[in-house]
Amino acid sequence: MKVSAIIVAAGSGRRLGFDVPKAFVRLAGHPMLYYAMRTIAAVDAIEDVVVAVPRGMEPAARSEVRAAGLEAPVKLVEGGEERQDSVRIALALTSAESELVVVHDASRPFASAELCRACLAAAARCGGGIAAIAVADTLKRVEDRTIMATIPRTGLFQAQTPQAFRRDLLVAAHLRAEREACAVTDDAELVERFGGKVEIVEGSPLNLKITTPADLKLAQALGASL
Ligand code: C5P
Repeated sequence: MKVSAIIVAAGSGRRLGFDVPKAFVRLAGHPMLYYAMRTIAAVDAIEDVVVAVPRGMEPAARSEVRAAGLEAPVKLVEGGEERQDSVRIALALTSAESELVVVHDASRPFASAELCRACLAAAARCGGGIAAIAVADTLKRVEDRTIMATIPRTGLFQAQTPQAFRRDLLVAAHLRAEREACAVTDDAELVERFGGKVEIVEGSPLNLKITTPADLKLAQALGASL
């Protein structure tokens, strides 16, 4: 089965507070993007890769392709306004011969190749497979610092990336979302909304998403495992 990968790395990372885009912030000696590329490089089934980067960052991204030992052909493309736009733009550049596509955020440097393979296996079986972890904390709905409700956490999961899908399903979902001006924060939501089946694969609490300076501190503390 031919497989393509998309790495979305075109966010500005304003909340992180650096003057370089988030994917190029260094962690344990390398820009964050390097680790996402290294994860993808370790999945043999992946035959082509598209990386969405901020305007002007193509040369810096190209040198990470070499450093990460990515041997599959890699296309670099300028991302869009929102993550969803970056995925759609990159998806259009993946090989039309691919049956599966895996999408991964550069802001999750700790994802393993095994997790990526497990998502692809679920996508091959049922159409979509995403990394997710069960919600461990009690959830409160709050307005003006006042708790309005407690949300039972049974059956609730936090979605992560990698997220893998049959390419035809993901392409159709993105086209329809664009037509209907439907905005989402992950690709699974689009596929779900338009009737696709998406299974979860056990992710890891260590598959952190780096958004804030506190996340970066945690990631630096875990840096030895990179
Ligand atoms: O901002 P956030 O961390 O939620 O973004 C998740 C991933 O999507 C990051 O890897 C980021 O670089 C990417 N992204 C993108 N294009 C955007 C916004 C975010 O590729 N316009």
